[in-house]
Amino acid sequence: MAIRSKLRFQISHIRFSIVFPVLLFAICNAVNLERLAKWFQQADGVDYLGLSAYLLAGLCLFILIFALLTHRLTVKPFAILLTILSATATYFIAKYGVAIDSSMILNAVHTDSTEVRQLLSLQMLPYAVMLIVLPVWLILSADITFAPSGRYFLDSLKVIGVALCVALLSLYAQYTAIFRAGNVSNKYIVYSLVPINIISGSFSAASKSLKPYLEKKDQRDVAISAHVAAPGNLVVVLAIGEASRRKNFGVYGYTRRNTTPVLQKTGGLYLLNGIATRASTLYALPKILEKKDIKLTTIVSRVGIPTSCYVNYTLYDNCASPGETTVNCGRTKCYDEDVVPLLKNNVGTYQSGYRFIVLHLGGGSHGPIYRDRHPPEFQQFQPICPDADVINKCSLEQLYNSYDNTILYVDHVLGQVVQTLDQSGVPYVFIYLSDHGESLMEGGLMFHGVPPGIALPDEQAQIPLIVKSSVPISIVERAEYRQPDVYDTVLDLFSIQSPTFDRAGSFIKKGSGRATSRWALTKSVASPPVTPR
Ligand SMILES: [Zn+2]
Repeated sequence: MAIRSKLRFQISHIRFSIVFPVLLFAICNAVNLERLAKWFQQADGVDYLGLSAYLLAGLCLFILIFALLTHRLTVKPFAILLTILSATATYFIAKYGVAIDSSMILNAVHTDSTEVRQLLSLQMLPYAVMLIVLPVWLILSADITFAPSGRYFLDSLKVIGVALCVALLSLYAQYTAIFRAGNVSNKYIVYSLVPINIISGSFSAASKSLKPYLEKKDQRDVAISAHVAAPGNLVVVLAIGEASRRKNFGVYGYTRRNTTPVLQKTGGLYLLNGIATRASTLYALPKILEKKDIKLTTIVSRVGIPTSCYVNYTLYDNCASPGETTVNCGRTKCYDEDVVPLLKNNVGTYQSGYRFIVLHLGGGSHGPIYRDRHPPEFQQFQPICPDADVINKCSLEQLYNSYDNTILYVDHVLGQVVQTLDQSGVPYVFIYLSDHGESLMEGGLMFHGVPPGIALPDEQAQIPLIVKSSVPISIVERAEYRQPDVYDTVLDLFSIQSPTFDRAGSFIKKGSGRATSRWALTKSVASPPVTPR
């Protein structure tokens, strides 16, 4: 009893909330530091500033979460659970280089005892003693003292506040290095950072499991007070690209390579200056397809207009009602052009009336390995960059060639779409825009995505917005066209009256300009099309 009480030590709750995360984080990540550091490799060695900022941000986030979730009754069980999980994750990362993400967490939850026995080995023993037995014994020996509730609350708040500030400052200060490492490693820097990987994996596994019960507003039940004011004959085809920036389109004046030979030969194109405001697909798609929580596809389909979404990859929940159709090409790998047969079938059944088709060209120009987004025969500009680590393994020349090949393929796919529409003879308005652009090392930035509150660099904001029509239209001339304007334009083309419709946003007006369709749309006033550059 005397020995036992001698080994016990007192520590305040606040001190424990800092010391425990620091020790656990330092010990576990020291074991696998090399695996993490290699993603911060630059031409002249490891970028220690970026790596340190990343580790500091991770540690502060851990302290923040630990301080948030631990109270008098939960602190020891939570600390012990984290210790056991972190030690296990550290062992598996060291031995197998595994990535701990939500699927790994779900697998672990569903593992049976046979699998566990197969995974256990004697090699685990030193890890178990050093990383579990000793720390757990220390945790159990601690007498954690708690201040009176008022001060306890205030102290916890201080720890949380300081941890949050330091985490954000580190992330913003070394944003470029951290973002680059995240992209090049395909988020492995998150999946291998203990116990951030366990915590974020658990949260994401829990939210995935609970998703069916927590859907914020099911588009199928959302109340729509919209109607078609004037029926007509028109097929609107909205094609949304991925990470294709305007700057590299030949039709917009790019001269390094001829990236758009097909579009250059296509007559009647309106080339508009589109602007994106969010640089991640998840946030960019709703800028085009959602207003006030109501999806464009929901409104259009609910007023009775046949609506289809054909996607390579996914529009996420932006086509939840009526539902999206994923390309099925019969090969191991599908490409953006595989939406074209679906489009062809659709317009092949057109008789009359309004119809809405959304095409998601989700391969587009997405990195880090650009050549994966198009069939091999489009690797025309050589030499290309074959590696995901574009910064260290490739020259700027290779990077640009790789990216320009993706635009060459976008040009091919857009040509196929326009050709399909022209051959079908349906009255159509075709709109193409990208969800956002892409940085190719301008200002040290690579790929796309910036933290909230930071304006997008031009390369990520400036997107192509291309319109073609077989019916008489005119374009409202503006210096720039925002993505939400596309939402209003589609409603306007279908003459849909709705509380989410803003007439001022719409930039395509029916009824003036050239007509090449045999369908009567509205009375036509002849005037030449505008082609702003
Ligand atoms: Zn995107």
